[in-house]
Amino acid sequence: MTADALASAVDRLMAQAREDLERLVAIPSVASEERVPVPAGREAAELVEGLYRDLGFDDIRLLDADDGSVVVLGRTVGPVGAPRVLLYAHYDVQPAGDEDAWSSDPWTLTERDGRWYARGAADCKGNLVMHLTALRALRDVEGGWPVSLTVVCEGSEEMSTGGLERLVAAQPDLFAADVIVVADTGNVEAGVPTVTTSLRGTGSVLVTVRTLSGPVHSGAFGGAAPDAMAALIRVLDTLRDDDGATTVGGVPTDGKWTGAAYPVERFRSDAGVLDGVDVIGGGTVADALWARPVATVLAIEGPAIKDVTASVQAEARAVVNLRVPAGVDAADAQQRLVEQLTAAAPWNARITVEPKTLGRPFAARTDGPAYAALAVAMEQAYGRPMVQTGQGGAIPLCVTLSEAHPDAEILLIGVEEPACRIHAPDESVSPDELRRTAVAEALLLRALSAGRGP
Ligand SMILES: [Zn+2]
Repeated sequence: MTADALASAVDRLMAQAREDLERLVAIPSVASEERVPVPAGREAAELVEGLYRDLGFDDIRLLDADDGSVVVLGRTVGPVGAPRVLLYAHYDVQPAGDEDAWSSDPWTLTERDGRWYARGAADCKGNLVMHLTALRALRDVEGGWPVSLTVVCEGSEEMSTGGLERLVAAQPDLFAADVIVVADTGNVEAGVPTVTTSLRGTGSVLVTVRTLSGPVHSGAFGGAAPDAMAALIRVLDTLRDDDGATTVGGVPTDGKWTGAAYPVERFRSDAGVLDGVDVIGGGTVADALWARPVATVLAIEGPAIKDVTASVQAEARAVVNLRVPAGVDAADAQQRLVEQLTAAAPWNARITVEPKTLGRPFAARTDGPAYAALAVAMEQAYGRPMVQTGQGGAIPLCVTLSEAHPDAEILLIGVEEPACRIHAPDESVSPDELRRTAVAEALLLRALSAGRGP
């Protein structure tokens, strides 16, 4: 009965959800290192604050993080003994990139073929609207919220500058909760309710190879002169076996993913793998993405082709990004990567490998009452059982929150499914996914209130 009432309430609230999303995407709250603090960040933060305030959050404020971003933090107090639930999203977005590659203005919510297009429509303003819609529906049906709530919306997630993480580490009590809903992921495909239980850790290194005091003519010296570019290529080639699987000394490469499969044809389509080109990594796609390490060469630096001269290069550099699955110590794996690359330098070339970034992997608890309640709520909202997936990208906040509040259950859900094309031109959200995830979240919050099943 209440499930139907909540679903009907969400249906009625979809027009308002669209209006909220229109207002949110109209603010180009782009996070990028060249634009700190995010110029439109405060404007977006104030809009988020206003939306939550209108919903009934009197205790809400903006916190200045040390990376120049603004965090929205709001709280309500529920019935005595009710659990505290933290709802997370972020309002910053990726740049639009090449605006000519968009079919409509990235900063204007535009409906086409039943989807809503704009930068941030899914990642992560759509998820923010999911929270708002779920809370409105519960308030309309139940007259209030059955749990104590903390809402957090940050402004530098896409930049990974860690402003919110350091706030959590410095003032953990502000973010204390029994259950944390991190809404920055989504379903493996539209209509398949999904919880993300595993996030890869990440660590980047900068590789520099030096062989000569300066470039020399390739005709006069090439052949005997140690070629820094060739040395770098030899070094980087140690990262893959013949199947393209990453080999980093001693890091296990035989992991098996036990959650939902990722069909290879869907992966080919999602990743845009060209016809006739192999998918790599050994094992299944899901094994390669969520259960095994990978080292990706992100950039190689030597002369640009437009600046080419007939020279043996004296120095060459590369950035290598390592991703490790839950259960692998990211710092240890990064150290092994440093050692492997360093040892691989041919011809006694001078090589330095500097660790640059490090983020630990995350595995969610799946044995707690909130996880069980989420499974029931998702099945009610979607009419089919919830599946588990992993995600290749790190969400460092999950690690920070789980360290600050080890007993909290962290649930990763959201409106982002593959057709959303997050971070790419023509990002969009399916209003139907938004509707159903909002219903699921409303059912979850209701179920979490003491002594009541969904
Ligand atoms: Zn996001």
